[in-house]
Amino acid sequence: MTVPGILWLTRDFRFKDNPALLAAIKQGPLLPVFFIDRLLMAQGAASRWRLERALYSFDAELRRRTGGAGVIILRGEPDLLLGELADRTGARQVHQSDWPAPDMRSLQDRVRAALQRHGNELVLHPGHLLVHPQLVRTQEGGCYRVFTPFARALRFVGPDRPAREAPGQIRPYRVTEGADPAGLDLAPDLHRGRSVLERFALTAGEAAAHDRLDAFLDGISGYADNRDRPDIDATSGLSEHLAVGEISPRTIWTIARMRAEAEPARAADIEKFLSEVIWREFAWHLLLEFPHMATTAWREGWADFPWREANDDSRKWCRGETGMALVDAGLREMRVTGRMHNRVRMVVASWLTKHLLTDWRLGLSHFADSLTDWDPASNAMNWQWVAGCGPDAAPYFRIFNPEKQAEQHDPEGRYRRRWLAGWMGTPSAEAQAYLESAPSPWKLSQVWNAGGAVTVKSGRELALQAYADFRTQQHEA
Ligand SMILES: Cc1cc2nc3c(=O)[nH]c(=O)nc-3n(C[C@H](O)[C@H](O)[C@H](O)COP(=O)(O)OP(=O)(O)OC[C@H]3O[C@@H](n4cnc5c(N)ncnc54)[C@H](O)[C@@H]3O)c2cc1C
Repeated sequence: MTVPGILWLTRDFRFKDNPALLAAIKQGPLLPVFFIDRLLMAQGAASRWRLERALYSFDAELRRRTGGAGVIILRGEPDLLLGELADRTGARQVHQSDWPAPDMRSLQDRVRAALQRHGNELVLHPGHLLVHPQLVRTQEGGCYRVFTPFARALRFVGPDRPAREAPGQIRPYRVTEGADPAGLDLAPDLHRGRSVLERFALTAGEAAAHDRLDAFLDGISGYADNRDRPDIDATSGLSEHLAVGEISPRTIWTIARMRAEAEPARAADIEKFLSEVIWREFAWHLLLEFPHMATTAWREGWADFPWREANDDSRKWCRGETGMALVDAGLREMRVTGRMHNRVRMVVASWLTKHLLTDWRLGLSHFADSLTDWDPASNAMNWQWVAGCGPDAAPYFRIFNPEKQAEQHDPEGRYRRRWLAGWMGTPSAEAQAYLESAPSPWKLSQVWNAGGAVTVKSGRELALQAYADFRTQQHEA
């Protein structure tokens, strides 16, 4: 009997630097399975939609390499179905590229137990991170809590090299079950937002990720200066490819480093770019060490901060109707493209958590539902960083002023004009697309209106007062 190599695909839609895929191929004809399960459907709509595109692109390439056999897509829970699949086919191992998010960890435990009952095993492979978290430890053996020493230690250890082998033609294990990826709709809850996202999204797939990296490195001069400018296309746009594993961070690191060595004039910008990639790594190492970072304040004592729950102001924030131009522009950009510029993410998050004193978890889940690059570690670390309760966080009293940020980083107003219908001139296609994608019950005004109940000054004063009261209570307790 021919025994297959089972590959359990989750967020690793690539052929290069994919040790789990290589291991499965070595074991026998490839049987790649993907599950439409509870964990997937609990994810935000935009990231499910993005994952569907990654799956579709991977499946097309797989069919090319196998002569027609694609990914086996099954509806149901992996802990029930994988054990049965291994038994039926005689496979002793199931290979998975490790995606160490807390809820995936629990699922892996359940799958491991189900496989073990029949003497089979789950084998996890690296590839999602630059380096195994146990290799970047403080002298006392703990996890770094501050970015700069973490980055120094990581550079000292050096990221792992990507896998050198890449499969060419692949021998498939043919089965008759499974849904066709072409007919999938993993994000029906996007409603009319779907067609807008389709128009404005970046191209998906492994080839697109590599093209994007190459083009970005070709034009990287000025990245360090311009990466904070939302009006300039100065950043890589690689985050969503990383989020669904269309390219590995180890591959990015290796290619970028080779370019820096070959072209010293670009080295400083490339190093700055790599230090951003290390922020992603930092977030994942922290999440592994402190899984509660995704749901509760990381800093001790912050559990009792008097955040407001959902309120009228936060509802307006979600709709990009705060009346604060840079904040609303960012939220509208996210709805139309699934992305938001990093500098604007910080300003938008600061407005919600400081000026509107609203719980950071509300923003976290709005981002999780709307971002095509949603990443549980980066999202949680950054929201907590802005809110003041996270690792290496900005102090609470450091409050972004969106007007000053706009003057500095969008000096000619190009970014705000692109996203706000009626703000200084005829609405752009992007600004119109936002109005098109908004659900009709929102009853959005066709023209963006400046000025809301909370102003830069009043919100700042309220936030500082709340913080001062909180500190006093903590001292008295
Ligand atoms: C409140 C908030 C929420 C965020 N949520 C997410 C999220 O869900 N998913 C996500 O990928 N990023 C998140 N970020 C980080 C950052 O905004 C995006 O990674 C970045 O905008 C992606 O654009 P880029 O790929 O063009 O970045 P580049 O400037 O080209 O950076 C290269 C890579 O470095 C990593 N990176 C850059 N900045 C950060 C950062 N601050 N934290 C962690 N990694 C970083 C990303 O993987 C990125 O692709 C969040 C930031 C904030 C302030």
